[in-house]
Amino acid sequence: MNLDYENVVDKILCSEEDIKSRIKIVARKIEEYYKDSERKLLLLGILKGSVVFMADLMKELHLPIEVDFMRLSSYGKGAVSTGNIVIKAGLERKDLSEYNILIVEDILDTGNTLYWLVDYLKQEHMCENIKICTLLDKPDRREKPISVDFGCFTIPDEFVIGYGLDYNELYRDLPYVGVLKREIYEK
Ligand code: 5GP
Ligand code: MG
Repeated sequence: MNLDYENVVDKILCSEEDIKSRIKIVARKIEEYYKDSERKLLLLGILKGSVVFMADLMKELHLPIEVDFMRLSSYGKGAVSTGNIVIKAGLERKDLSEYNILIVEDILDTGNTLYWLVDYLKQEHMCENIKICTLLDKPDRREKPISVDFGCFTIPDEFVIGYGLDYNELYRDLPYVGVLKREIYEK
């Protein structure tokens, strides 16, 4: 095994400490927004990228929450999502009308995936109040009219890995978010 695999990181954008403190701030905003709601709160994590963020965020939230997950994939050419979304693992329950839904995702990039998902949840699961919480937001790349409601970091248009985000399924375990060296994906 190549144990020196962290040398693919060009620079660290969000350190472990930065992430910890931003999650605390965002958790307080989420609590403030939902605390007086009559509806139950469902945190809906999008696999696999959200898994590290979800775990840290849910521990920080002082609210009664339920958790569920979906796995989505977008097909089309290249690494950029196209809006042609396939559900790889869906929700067991059909009627979610008694819930507020907070989608928890690693990054909002073009917006194609979550734009599709919000519409799907409204149509197929009777969801009315849907909000979006992401670790990262890359607004420069947006193709759909969608924005983050509770976000930790806005980042420039660079390919990042770590803290749940992968490159060819590796590096999700890094405890920070770093920019992948260009020579790795351009070679
Ligand atoms: P979308 O373009 O639909 O907003 O984002 C779809 C997915 O692309 C994200 O959930 C994430 O998995 C992936 N993605 C977008 N930007 C990056 C990035 O910089 N690094 C990694 N590892 N994945 C990304
Ligand atoms: Mg993702």
